[in-house]
Amino acid sequence: MAKERKCLEIIGIVQGVGFRPFIYRLAKRRNLKGFVLNNTRGVIVELEGEGAQIEEVISKIKENPPPLAQIEKIECESLPVLEYRDFEIRISQKTEERSTLVSPDIATCEKCKKELLNPDDRRYRYPFINCINCGPRFTIIRELPYDRKNTTMAKFKMCEDCRLEYNDPANRRFHAQPDACPVCGPEVRLVDRTAKVIKEEPISKTIELLGEGKIVAIKGLGGFHLACNAKDKAAVSLLRERKGRPSKPLALMARDVEVVRKYTYLSKKEEELLSSSKSPILLLLKREENTLPEEIAPGNRYIGFILPYTPLHILLFQDPKEVEVLVMTSGNKIGEPIIIKNSEAIRVLGDIADYFLLHNRDIHIPSDDSVVAILEDKPIMVRRSRGYVPEPIKCPAHTKKNILGCGAHLKNTFSLARGNEIFASHHIGDLGTPKAMEAYERGIKHFESLFDIHPEVIVVDRHPEYLSTKFGEKWADENDSLLMRVQHHHAHIASCLVDNDIDKEVIGIAWDGTGFGEDGAIWGGEFLIAGFKSYQRKAHLEYIPLPGGEKAVKEPWRMATTYLYYTMGEDFLDLDIEFIGRLDLKKWEMLKVMIDRKINAPLTSSAGRLFDAVSSLLDLRDRITYLGQAAIELEMIIEDDGKANFYNFKLRKEDGIYIINAIPVIRSIIDDLIHRIPPSVISARFHKGLIEMIADITRRLRDDTGIIDVALSGGVFQNCFLLQGATKRLIKEGFRVYTHHNIPPNDGGISVGQVAIAANVIP
Ligand code: ZN
Ligand code: ZN
Ligand code: FE
Repeated sequence: MAKERKCLEIIGIVQGVGFRPFIYRLAKRRNLKGFVLNNTRGVIVELEGEGAQIEEVISKIKENPPPLAQIEKIECESLPVLEYRDFEIRISQKTEERSTLVSPDIATCEKCKKELLNPDDRRYRYPFINCINCGPRFTIIRELPYDRKNTTMAKFKMCEDCRLEYNDPANRRFHAQPDACPVCGPEVRLVDRTAKVIKEEPISKTIELLGEGKIVAIKGLGGFHLACNAKDKAAVSLLRERKGRPSKPLALMARDVEVVRKYTYLSKKEEELLSSSKSPILLLLKREENTLPEEIAPGNRYIGFILPYTPLHILLFQDPKEVEVLVMTSGNKIGEPIIIKNSEAIRVLGDIADYFLLHNRDIHIPSDDSVVAILEDKPIMVRRSRGYVPEPIKCPAHTKKNILGCGAHLKNTFSLARGNEIFASHHIGDLGTPKAMEAYERGIKHFESLFDIHPEVIVVDRHPEYLSTKFGEKWADENDSLLMRVQHHHAHIASCLVDNDIDKEVIGIAWDGTGFGEDGAIWGGEFLIAGFKSYQRKAHLEYIPLPGGEKAVKEPWRMATTYLYYTMGEDFLDLDIEFIGRLDLKKWEMLKVMIDRKINAPLTSSAGRLFDAVSSLLDLRDRITYLGQAAIELEMIIEDDGKANFYNFKLRKEDGIYIINAIPVIRSIIDDLIHRIPPSVISARFHKGLIEMIADITRRLRDDTGIIDVALSGGVFQNCFLLQGATKRLIKEGFRVYTHHNIPPNDGGISVGQVAIAANVIP
């Protein structure tokens, strides 16, 4: 029998997912010789032996790879026989070109969980247990290739027992880079606000403190959480008060699926995603009769739930007498990024948390919990971060140039693109603070070196004041790279096209709060005919002043008043509705001056502001404490009576563009308010009116252009009632409808749209 030798190069997510031991076992079992190694492009395998056996290994790799691996391609080459003596796993080598994908962090697997809770196991109750199929990845990797020395685990020297496992191809910790045990690995430590170490066993003591109503900052996988007992109303209120977060919903971590089911409705799909290795926060419909304090998510029908995804989290729920559900909110100061360092946590969160559960495995790069909702069995990404990042997103065009998309200003992410891959960053957040900008710049540098993508094209939003825009301009200037400006809503629609892996002209409906328009106005209620290469604005909500600019975003009463004024002049002051009773007449005088004299009252076509106006008119929310609050509360009160009643918009065409006027809608709302129609019904009629208007405009644009594909994007389409209603309505009209699943419809997706557009435009 003639020997053969083949060299395979396997590219994709193949590092940190147990690929080398998998190959090792396949080869050993078939008596093949050669080696396997990680390089910066992926995994290289040489197999020498009987041809049929080699083929068998190759088909096993293709058909049955390790569960977390994602193979993109396998290149295979026949080579002259070298007479290898054995099969071995070789030490990684660096090569010139880097394109290895980095695995996201993975929730603790079932096998590790069993060992964790087994008193006979040597890792019994060890909070850093992990294996080849689970544990930290992205957040601890400093550079590639993915070897222990390149992670924050480098400082822990493996003990003899761990080393044996690590080197044993039959062991499930074979080459598990973050492997550790109580003898040799990281440790937890409980301290108080003065950094004084609490002597008792840290985890049991933490459980006890949480049970007593204390707030504990807990270091996790991608950063700190602030935790308290979610069933303790006083503790939840205290946490809100100390964090200065009066009403934004708080995420909860529950012991297991059964506990989640006690408080929310949970479909099969939802349960699957909740318990998956990605372990996101899932937005779930509250049970009406649930016993959680209303303070968790005031005025909201949904609660964000997450399951324990690290061994440390699992241990926090092991005492059956104590807490079964914890508040787990990001450990940060409002507006600042999540904290990853022990010292900083104590310094910055010292006036929020009573105690700190720390550990000494460093987090190299932060990653917030991801947030997902499921609608009709399909996910809608709300925040794409831990568990998902840095999985690449398929780029719609093969780019020859490396591209950086700087993203938006709020909910910021950035994206790097190379070839046909887009690497969208973890959630950075709002760029309004120096700390956020620091995290942003550090993140970009990290991605640049990790993926070896050095941007030649920089894409920024058209908004001149976004700090991301200014950052991109400076970068382009200093590095002499090409600067490209992309309109905000064009980027939204492009991100939706990427999400659906389509490349065609669509009717793009981009609705959000704020996006800088070509004419300098603030857009946000837009209908575009758009592809990657270009877009045309075809319809939009009629401009209305935004008196006070940013202030009007925070104070929906300003929009309500403006809409009333536009609807009926100053006569609105005589209306017999509660809103007028609340209106501060002095403030109205000020507002009127701004509107009449066009002082600090930029024009806007924002759909978000129309939601704000209606929310305030219905006495729901005059001032917001978090972005989107007024619109969310408006959606939450909907009582759909199933009747076809809805409010009509007025339409006219100017220079080929449909202008959508909301005045008749406001007039109808006033009528209904006067007739004491309940706000829940008014909200339903308003939402249904928007859906009818979407259907109407979209039909007209189809008549004008022949296009039957529709993409829905922008933060407003996180509104499930609107999203679901518009989708169904448009499908009924014969349209193909594309919505978001893996990329957020909100500004978290902007950077993806930016690089996708550049990839198509730049030759
Ligand atoms: Zn595991
Ligand atoms: Zn050890
Ligand atoms: Fe936006």
